[in-house]
Amino acid sequence: MATPALMQNYGDRTLTLVRGQGNYVWDDTGRRYLDAISGIAVCGLGHCHPAVTEALVDQANTLLHVSNLYNIPAQEQLADRLVFLSGMDNVFFSNSGAEANEAAIKLARRLGNERGCAVPKIVVMEGAFHGRTLATLTATGNPKVQQGFAPLPEGFLRVPFDDVAAIEQLAAAHDDIVAILVEPVQGEGGINVPAPDYLNRLRQLCDQNDWLLMLDEIQTANGRSGKLFAYQHAGILPDVVTTAKGLGNGVPIGACLASGKAAQLFTAGSHGSTFGGNPLACRAGLAVLETLENQWLVERAEKLGDRLLQQLRLQLADCAAVRDIRGLGLLVGVELDRPCAELVELARSESLLINVTAGNVVRLLPPLTLTDEECSRIADVVSALIEQFALSAA
Ligand SMILES: *Cc1c(COP(=O)(O)O)cnc(C)c1O
Repeated sequence: MATPALMQNYGDRTLTLVRGQGNYVWDDTGRRYLDAISGIAVCGLGHCHPAVTEALVDQANTLLHVSNLYNIPAQEQLADRLVFLSGMDNVFFSNSGAEANEAAIKLARRLGNERGCAVPKIVVMEGAFHGRTLATLTATGNPKVQQGFAPLPEGFLRVPFDDVAAIEQLAAAHDDIVAILVEPVQGEGGINVPAPDYLNRLRQLCDQNDWLLMLDEIQTANGRSGKLFAYQHAGILPDVVTTAKGLGNGVPIGACLASGKAAQLFTAGSHGSTFGGNPLACRAGLAVLETLENQWLVERAEKLGDRLLQQLRLQLADCAAVRDIRGLGLLVGVELDRPCAELVELARSESLLINVTAGNVVRLLPPLTLTDEECSRIADVVSALIEQFALSAA
C-alpha cells in the first residue's frame, strides 16, 4: 500500500520499480522485467538511454531554468528541428500532453472568436482520450473520466471514431464548427486503427469547411507508429498537431505545432507556461530526435510492429476469445471478447510488463530499441497467457 499522504486517485499499486536500463526495469526485490509498455509510450529509446542522460547531466551542470522571459537556445533548436521534421510552421512547448492539447483547443477557440462565433465547436470522437484537465477531459470520449466534474466547458460535438459521414451530417446542422480534434490511432481507447484514408478524408472535409484539422499525436508520434508523426503515413499536413509522451523519453515535455493560419493565432501574451520549453526538457527532446534518426529507430518501429503483429496473429489464430489483433508500428492491441485486466498481473509473473486498456484490449507499447528476440518473447508470453486465460475464464 502506498502512503496515505498520496491522494488515492491511482488506486492500489502493487509493483515498485526502482531501476531501468534499456528495455528492462527492476523492482525493489531485484526482479527484472521486460518492459512492453515503456511508461505508457514514453521511454521509446528504452530506459536511461545514454544520449538522453548525457544531455541532462550536461544541462544540469549548465542551466536548468530561466523562464520564458528570455531566449532559450535549446528551445529554439528543438523548435527548428521539430518544424523541419514535421513540415509544420511553429511550436508552443508545454510540460504534458493535456497542456499541449489545451493549447490546441485555445487555438481553435481563438479562430472561432475571430470569426465572431459565440460558442465555437470542436468535433471530437467517441473513445478518444485527450487528457485530464477540464477542457481535455471534456474532449475525451469516456464518461468515466468526466463523471463528477460538472460543470464541463461547452463547445464540443461528439461523433463515432472513423465515421466521416457522421461529421458531414454535423457540418450540415452547425455553422459554428471550427475544428476537428482526433487521434490518428486511438491509444487509451483500445488501439483503434481507422480506415487508411480516414485522415485524408478529414483533411478534405476541413479544407471544404475552413476548419482546423487538429491531431492528437501525444501517444502516436516520436516514431512509434513507424513514422515520426503518424499523419506522415497519410501524406497530409494537419493545421495543428500535439505530442508529448515519447518526446522527452521520461523528461516531462509537450509540444503543440501549428501550420498556416493556425500558426498565426497566438500573439504576444495570448498563451504561456512557466516551465514549458525549459532548457532541461528541450535538451532531452533534442537528444531523443537525434537518437531516433542516428539509430534508424523510426524505421525499426515499423519493422518491429509488423513482426509483433504477425507473430501474435499466427500464435493466436485458433484462440476463439480473441476478437481482433491490430496496430500501427509499435502501437499494438489484442482485443478479447471479455474483460482481461488480470492479464497484467499474470504477465508480471512471467517477468513482462503489459497494459490492458478499454477493459478488454491488451495494449503493447514496447521501446523502439527492442531486439528481434525480445519482440518474439513478448509475442510468445502474451499469446500463451491469453490462451490460458481464455480457457480458465471460459
Ligand atoms: C497520454 C495522452 C494524453 C494526456 O497526456 P498527459 O501527459 O497525461 O497529460 C492526451 N492524449 C493522448 C492521445 C494521450 O495518449
